[in-house]
Amino acid sequence: MNRGTLWYKNRICVPNVDSIRKLILSEAHDMAYSIHPGSTKMYYDLKERFWWYGMKRAVAEYVAICDTCQRVKAEHQRPAGLLQPLKVPEWKWEEITMDFIVGLPRTQKGYNSIWVVVDRLTKVAHFIPSAKLAEPYISVIVRLHGVPKRIIFDRGSRFTSRFWERLHNSLDTKLGFGTAYHPRTDGRTKELIDT
Ligand SMILES: [Zn+2]
Repeated sequence: MNRGTLWYKNRICVPNVDSIRKLILSEAHDMAYSIHPGSTKMYYDLKERFWWYGMKRAVAEYVAICDTCQRVKAEHQRPAGLLQPLKVPEWKWEEITMDFIVGLPRTQKGYNSIWVVVDRLTKVAHFIPSAKLAEPYISVIVRLHGVPKRIIFDRGSRFTSRFWERLHNSLDTKLGFGTAYHPRTDGRTKELIDT
C-alpha cells in the first residue's frame, strides 16, 4: 500500500478533484487503447481499481455526453432502406449474432466448439472456446458489454430453445435479473428479445 493513498478494500479512493476523475474516465473510455465502451462495461472495468462516491453515475454521464458515441448513435439512427431485413442497432452490443463452430477435436480443457459472437453494429467478434452453451455467454459477453437487447441465431429452433433455456437459467441463478426473455421468430432467423 502506498503512503498517502486511501484504499477502499483493494480499490483506490479517488479524491474529489475534477481533473483527476475526468482523467480516469477518459483513460477508460476514449484514450488510445480504449474502444468507447458502454457505461456498463466501463463501470465494471473501473470498479476493479477505483472507487469514489457516485462513480457509477459519473461513468454513465461521461458516456452519455461522449461526442463520438453520440455520433455513432446518430449515424445508425438514419432510416434503413426497405431492403434492410433487420433494423440496424443503435448501440454497440445491443444486438449480437451468434453461431457455433462445432465438432472440433476436444482440447485438454474439454472444449470442442468455438462460440462466435458478433456485435451487429461494430462487427467486432469474440471467439470463445466452449463446451456448454450459455456459460461462456454469461462470463464473457455480459461482463464485457452488458445484457444485449436482442440475440440473433442462425440455427434451428431446437438449438435456439435449448440455448434460451440455459441462458435464462444462468441469468436467473447467477445474475438474478428479473427481465423476462421471450423467444420470437421472424421467419428468417430466430431471435430472443427482451420485452
Ligand atoms: Zn465514447
